[in-house]
Amino acid sequence: MTSRPNPVPDLNPNGSGVPLPALSFEFFPARSPRMDRNLWRTMGQLELFNPAFFSMTYGALGSEREHSISAVESLQQDGPVPVAAHITAAGHTRESLLALAERFAALGVRRLVALRGDDLAQGGFRDVADMVESLLGVADFDISVAAYPEVHPKALSPEADLVSLKRKLDAGSRRALTQYFFDAEVFLRFRDAALKAGITRPLVPGILPLHDFDKVQGFSARCGASVPDFLHERFRGTRAGSAEQREIGIDIITGLCENLIREGVEQLHFYTLNQPNLSYEIVRRLQYPLRHEPARNRLSKAA
Ligand code: FAD
Repeated sequence: MTSRPNPVPDLNPNGSGVPLPALSFEFFPARSPRMDRNLWRTMGQLELFNPAFFSMTYGALGSEREHSISAVESLQQDGPVPVAAHITAAGHTRESLLALAERFAALGVRRLVALRGDDLAQGGFRDVADMVESLLGVADFDISVAAYPEVHPKALSPEADLVSLKRKLDAGSRRALTQYFFDAEVFLRFRDAALKAGITRPLVPGILPLHDFDKVQGFSARCGASVPDFLHERFRGTRAGSAEQREIGIDIITGLCENLIREGVEQLHFYTLNQPNLSYEIVRRLQYPLRHEPARNRLSKAA
């Protein structure tokens, strides 16, 4: 097996003296040969930054589920970067969820992202804290959970959301990966509130590279992430999906990451959207060093 990279942060080369946070990158399973090539190409580029892990989202429904599982299998077998498999209570009985965790453990997967998912129709785990405890009974997984700097849309209140997050972390999760946001202040206020609520495990900011402002406005409304006025200002008069929007997006998200790095975050988690170049370009502008050549099997799959 290829040796695993060691995510020890470098000192930030831009002179701030602040260590560069570890990196993780999230992907979703490809649903066509073209998407598959894109996915491998994106991974091949991003593994040059020596990430702490690649995570693969889980679609709980029918064929999506199998796509997710086989993507985890192939990542685990073919890549030098540790894999974190997302796993949702939704779509599973307690027994089928734990059986899936056993399957991942048998493959050598040591990291999970434990989530509720959005439709709990199957009558399995109703509580992510309970799910985390049971998963830790299967294997000594490194478990991440989800957090919401702007509050989960269905949470009863911001306070209840933090109580729920603390329970998930107290159950044995190592860190929380956050929903994305566009204003560093949103994250910093959330981190302060979490600390006051007794949460001491790392909160890892989720970073969404902006590429098409119109699309981002649409899905931000659905997942409760606000789009601040300064974004509207910057994108005013630009064409959806244009090179100009792409460049503005990269500039804004690089600036967001720089703010977070200055504030001492331990890790940045990128929602790559399986897009080659976007996350790469942002991380490159943050002056992360490139470590090694891409694994040969990734390059052949991307060809
Ligand atoms: P919880 O921790 O149970 O809920 C978070 C908060 O919302 C709590 O305050 C809880 O009380 C409240 N809440 C949620 N639902 C309800 C409800 N029905 N009634 C009352 N209160 C409620 N989804 C996928 O399907 N697959 C993935 O791979 C995936 N990956 C994700 C990765 C990250 C980093 C994030 C942030 C989200 C991801 N999601 C994924 C989405 C996630 O499943 C949804 O946001 C889901 O609604 C909540 O999941 P959770 O684990 O945060 O749940």
